[in-house]
Amino acid sequence: MSTNIIVVLGAGVSGLTSALLLSKDPANQITVIAKHMPGDVDVEYCSPWAGANYLPFGAEGSRLGKWEKATWPHLQYLAQNCPDAGVEFQGATVRVRNKDKNSTTGKWTAELTKPSPWYRTVVPDFANIPSHQLDPGVDNANYFTSVCINVAVYLPWLLSQCRRRGVEFKRAIVSHVVDAATAHHSGKTADLVVNCTGLSSMTLGGVDDKTLHPVRGQLVVVRNDPGSMHMISGTDDGDGEGTYTMVRPAGGGTILGGSYQMDNWDPNPDPNLAIRIMKRCIELCPSLVPQGQGIEGLSVIRHGVGLRPLREDGPRVEREKIGRFWVVHNYGHGGYGYQASYGCAETVLELTAQVLSQKNHCNL
Ligand code: FAD
Repeated sequence: MSTNIIVVLGAGVSGLTSALLLSKDPANQITVIAKHMPGDVDVEYCSPWAGANYLPFGAEGSRLGKWEKATWPHLQYLAQNCPDAGVEFQGATVRVRNKDKNSTTGKWTAELTKPSPWYRTVVPDFANIPSHQLDPGVDNANYFTSVCINVAVYLPWLLSQCRRRGVEFKRAIVSHVVDAATAHHSGKTADLVVNCTGLSSMTLGGVDDKTLHPVRGQLVVVRNDPGSMHMISGTDDGDGEGTYTMVRPAGGGTILGGSYQMDNWDPNPDPNLAIRIMKRCIELCPSLVPQGQGIEGLSVIRHGVGLRPLREDGPRVEREKIGRFWVVHNYGHGGYGYQASYGCAETVLELTAQVLSQKNHCNL
């Protein structure tokens, strides 16, 4: 059996999921190389900041929509069978106000909040909420069963699953993507590098993708537990501000979001925005606090900021030959890195097979 020498560059959800699926083929010898690993907290490392949930944003028939559709069965499987993964089912209500249609968050959530979205046949329990049950100012709303992922549990779980299948992990910072090809734990030059560097692909040598943008997401993590997930298409507090809540399973606290601030690199939580987020979340989900209380009824664990790696044409999952090295890219997942993770990693497998078949053909 020939051996395939593979380096995965990046240990966020994209790199770990790619490594995990690649590791199911025993012919693949994999090293994951990264500046940040699960357990690290850094604004350059997006994955620990995500909620994370499954609220599809891709248009019907788009590549993103297909990746999100392909990911649901995996998350459903984990929620049903793997309590150690930190993924649990959770009821989600998404509300739309027609006046948000042309706002940043209205466009972001346009597919999600459609009355008859493509995902209605994918997730369980999809239903339109009858108009007489809508909150004041809300024009329509959908309910379905989503999942919430406790990323503080899930990222180490992905790493441990990789380790069980022989994947090696190494800390390193590379300045050019092909430098990763010579960092495999075996000392051999890699047959290919899987580039999962998220927003850093903007400046990584050999990639330099200037169509990437940071989309700043600020959140508050609280101990209060409303037991369900909520989102609305916009706010009256200005473009780029949003409102959503979800309860991380296994004691992970409740995420209060948020913001969707394009090209804003500020890593520090804005205290005024934090107050607006908390107020809006209570308005959206009153059961967050005891009846009659406002933000004083919230028990805050921490404030945080993450930068979503948004790419203008959507995630880049494609192969490219750079000099004599093959690279399979998997970056640019905006606010959908978890909910598209398995779909994208399956495409990485297909592209990897194409690259390796050329190698094996040349070796004949
Ligand atoms: P990252 O997690 O940023 O990982 C990049 C990796 O590459 C790191 O290991 C880093 O160290 C490494 N790296 C980079 N450059 C180098 C280098 N030069 N050398 C070595 N290593 C390098 N998504 C959802 O699906 N659902 C949600 O509910 C959701 N909520 C979100 C809420 C917020 C507030 C935010 C900020 C994001 C949210 N997202 C959500 C989006 C999701 O978090 C991202 O799409 C995802 O984490 C991107 O993962 P990644 O692995 O591509 O990048």
